[in-house]
Amino acid sequence: MELHDDLILKSLGLQGIKIEYWATCDEELKLVLYARQNRNEAVCNVCANSITHVHEWKLRKIRAAPLGAYEEVWIYLKQLRGNCHICGDRVRSSKVAFTHPHFKNMTYSLCEKAGRLMEELTCEASARILRLKSKTMWDIDQYRMKQMKKHLNYAERDLDLESMSADEVHYRTIFGKKSSDKNKVQFVTNLVCTNISKVLSNAMGRKGSSLLNCLKVLRPEQLLKIKYFALDMHDAFIKVVEHACKNAKICIDRFHLAQGVNDVFDEVRKIEFKLAKDNEDKFLMEVLAPHRKYILVEREKNLSKKDYTKLERLLDINKNIFRASVLVEYFHKVLDKKNVKEFRKSLILWYRFAREAKLKPFLKFANTLRKYRHYIEGYIMSGLTTAVSEGLNNKIKVLKRMGYGYTNPVSFMLKILQRCGLLNSKYIDTSSWYWPPEMRLASTTPF
Ligand SMILES: [Zn+2]
Repeated sequence: MELHDDLILKSLGLQGIKIEYWATCDEELKLVLYARQNRNEAVCNVCANSITHVHEWKLRKIRAAPLGAYEEVWIYLKQLRGNCHICGDRVRSSKVAFTHPHFKNMTYSLCEKAGRLMEELTCEASARILRLKSKTMWDIDQYRMKQMKKHLNYAERDLDLESMSADEVHYRTIFGKKSSDKNKVQFVTNLVCTNISKVLSNAMGRKGSSLLNCLKVLRPEQLLKIKYFALDMHDAFIKVVEHACKNAKICIDRFHLAQGVNDVFDEVRKIEFKLAKDNEDKFLMEVLAPHRKYILVEREKNLSKKDYTKLERLLDINKNIFRASVLVEYFHKVLDKKNVKEFRKSLILWYRFAREAKLKPFLKFANTLRKYRHYIEGYIMSGLTTAVSEGLNNKIKVLKRMGYGYTNPVSFMLKILQRCGLLNSKYIDTSSWYWPPEMRLASTTPF
């Protein structure tokens, strides 16, 4: 065989065939290889024994990976069909080893190329690069992620498990058919290794059992290595962590506390907005309207001059909003404390302000804080920020918007593991997947 044929066959991951001639269409960046299966290497598709008599050569079109400038590479293969003794002299096709077992008119190398692009790009972008359909890209990606998941083994790997966190993300809302029907909201719980900022595992739902399922990827000894575990104020999760990770200090995550105090503030805003409506107070109605609430939540420096003036006037005339915003502001200061002693001292002050302010939503929040104080102290001690899971949650939101439409939770969860975790070729070596198993080197099989 000529050297260049050999090189082309190897780089496209082809074997057991001979190139008879080839043609290119440079305008379309297309390359077509006309090839024939090697007669002496042909084996039965079913029993892998050699084929004795040639019945016919059947033309088969197979897409291969791009080659150099040629974005679209086709193999027009003459596939041998002949009699197989073992199969009772029946006519069998001979085996083509380099086509993907699941995507039969594509080569292994094309599927691996597609999968790697799908780790970084949207369906549409990678489909355009490879000149395939988006749906095909989606299918290849899903299939490949499922295969890779078999090699995702944390138990064997040396992971830094000192600090972990768990949080749920919104998966989808199934709207009731009638307006009286309740909408069903579905969640996915993610287990995050905070030190490396990666999602290790995920499970449907946000019950204790969901987190328990997430933790199953770690061995019992690994669970004992966890020193800090960041959670939100979710009793079911707290219970599971206390039970499963005996050495872990639970930290209520700052992000959720901040979110909590903002929600409480919004309740006060709603009450005042309703009052303003009842009193027909135009100014208050305007600044307290739901679409204007950014004025209240934004930090001063992010506001326009006009909005800032409005905010000042509002705080001047509405005592409750003023008190509420002081409580929010001061609460952030409480969370800024670097040691437990100072934290306790300032939290007691905050409780007092809350009592004096006499705002019901804040009094309720004060009770919540009392209940979880022990775990909030965990945050003060560890400083375990949730910037990580907050960042990951944003990334996941982007994934959701990328327009695949995750019709089943499994594909959504796999995609999270691929983009925000270790289910990708950076961590799992799939180099050998460019070639059919027969051409792979033993050393490059994934760990
Ligand atoms: Zn056979």
